[in-house]
Amino acid sequence: MNIRKNDTVLVIAGKDRGKKGRVRFTYPSKERVLVEGINMIKRHTRAVRQARQAGIIEREAPLDVSNVMLLCSKCNKPARVSARFLGDGRKVRVCQVCGEVID
Ligand SMILES: [Zn+2]
Repeated sequence: MNIRKNDTVLVIAGKDRGKKGRVRFTYPSKERVLVEGINMIKRHTRAVRQARQAGIIEREAPLDVSNVMLLCSKCNKPARVSARFLGDGRKVRVCQVCGEVID
């Protein structure tokens, strides 16, 4: 996956298309990401000995990584990324729009 935790992404499909958000969590094995404020679902909860408020709460649901695009931190555009290895063997992501190393 090209998307990592704390990346800012643009949603390109689904009901939140066009919105931006920060990645809170990634699920590499499922190819899904959890993005702040995106793909909100309503959850009905019951109070568990006062520990939690009963009622309906809204929370994010993970969405498919193919529905988001990484926003480049350098040029601020939705970017396709490629991987490059540095001299010390570290793998970094490169923005295909501006050519800058993102990490
Ligand atoms: Zn860029």
